[in-house]
Amino acid sequence: MSKKGTIGVTSDNIFPVIKKFLYSDHEIFLREIVSNAVDATQKLRTLASVGEFKGETGDLRVTVTIDEAARTITVSDRGVGMTEEEVEKYINQIAFSSAEEFLEKYKDDKAAIIGHFGLGFYSAFMVSERVDVITRSFRDGAEAVKWSCDGSPEFTLEATDKTERGTDIVMHIDEENSEFLGREKIEGLLTKYCKFLPVPIIFGKKQEWKDGKMQDTDEDNQINDTHPAWTKKPADLKDEDYKDFYRALYPMSDEPLFWIHLNVDYPFNLTGILYFPKIKNNLELQRNKIQLYSNQVYVTDEVQGIVPDFLTLLHGVLDSPDIPLNVSRSYLQSDSNVKKISAHITKKVADRLEEIFKNDRPTFEEKWDSLRLFVQYGMLTDEKFYDRATKFFLLSDTEGHKYTLDEYRTLVEGVQTDRDGQVVYLYATDREAQYSHVKRAADKGYSVLVLDGQLDTHTVSQLEQKLEKTHFVRVDSDTINNLIRKEQPASEVKLSDVERSTLIKLFEARLPREEKKHFNVAFESLGTEAEAVLIIQ
Ligand code: ADP
Ligand code: MG
Repeated sequence: MSKKGTIGVTSDNIFPVIKKFLYSDHEIFLREIVSNAVDATQKLRTLASVGEFKGETGDLRVTVTIDEAARTITVSDRGVGMTEEEVEKYINQIAFSSAEEFLEKYKDDKAAIIGHFGLGFYSAFMVSERVDVITRSFRDGAEAVKWSCDGSPEFTLEATDKTERGTDIVMHIDEENSEFLGREKIEGLLTKYCKFLPVPIIFGKKQEWKDGKMQDTDEDNQINDTHPAWTKKPADLKDEDYKDFYRALYPMSDEPLFWIHLNVDYPFNLTGILYFPKIKNNLELQRNKIQLYSNQVYVTDEVQGIVPDFLTLLHGVLDSPDIPLNVSRSYLQSDSNVKKISAHITKKVADRLEEIFKNDRPTFEEKWDSLRLFVQYGMLTDEKFYDRATKFFLLSDTEGHKYTLDEYRTLVEGVQTDRDGQVVYLYATDREAQYSHVKRAADKGYSVLVLDGQLDTHTVSQLEQKLEKTHFVRVDSDTINNLIRKEQPASEVKLSDVERSTLIKLFEARLPREEKKHFNVAFESLGTEAEAVLIIQ
């Protein structure tokens, strides 16, 4: 058997288009070809488990090899393979037409295709001048065939002598893409895209330093962990396992504070583990750490649009085959599955924080400093999260005691309600610098909060809006008696007009003259204990 044919498409030559469109993202070819090999292997496993395949499955692994001299990369699997008819159908017709359809759909939206699924098998042509498919089906008596195509719509299909079941995809790398013939390059890409695929991916042998150079050892270089933590049952995992997995994802990071293991199968499919990192003071640095997978195939680490903005501060892995990956980001935001997933994650995160708060408040308080920014960001940007977070959002006073919003209200409302019925929450933005003001307030029996965080001014406005009859006042913004105006001024100032104007002149003469600074002199009864003169900003 040997034949030539023309792939049934209208456009003369789709490959230059593929190469041009995806120029900046050639590297995904490897993910596509390896994940096809994994799919074929999984299909064989399934057939074996239902008894449709009765032979020996043997060692099911996918190997990736580079032959620098021949300028080829070969991806081999021992999966279901293809018969001649299947090659015609899946490679010539279906894969080709879906590649063409895909490009047609997104030709005006380059950003949509970069880094996303959809091109499948034909993405091999982004880096190859010729691709050979040498395959032998698992079916009894199937004959091996070799399909070969040089990037024009013409292909050849002929009998070949492959004895083993499965498929070899041989990519003859073109001049422009020689970089992909480098061992480190390919190992890097496999590690990025294939680290958690469910079938062992073997790339040569592990190497070691010997006799002054790197040399192969006898041990296979397996790229992936086929059973990553998120695919297991939470009951089967210990804290150490979660921490180990975190280290595998982010070798350079501090230990996470908490984690959430997600596992939903209705109305959408979602698994994953989200970690709360230690967030210190820079919101921006923390982003882009969540990795998105689709059935254990790496897709992206840019999850904006898929989870609410504040959740991008979390780290970890999300895996969902229900997130449409070959569409633009603006489309993603309006996709109903994405919306549901995003609402679900928000709820789970709130549940988890509330649970830790309820069950182990000391730990929660201890970690509050690292959690605070995250919780505040969520409250400020997500109404639903705000409603949940009011149960565990904490206020800290100058002594380091922590209160929920309700607790704090109960604590201060007796002493700190002013004559209009507003409860006044006093706060310091700098405990040291405002020390004397804090002390004066404490002497008067007032409580003072510390609000010195990056988002605290926003939180103050939000709480003033949300909490009824609540007013936040900075402890150094006025004299102690004016901070919380009670029924009547403590006592009248008994100075005549003449005495006042003399005193004003006197003070003004002694006050420093500085540009853009203006001092007001005012008279007030500060009580017998207080200093005679007080300067406030
Ligand atoms: P998809 O993977 O989304 O189906 P692809 O373009 O990646 O689309 O592949 C097209 C088809 O080619 C697959 O559905 C499968 O039937 C067949 N195929 C590709 N690679 C292999 C392989 N290694 N073994 C068996 N069949 C394969
Ligand atoms: Mg595919």
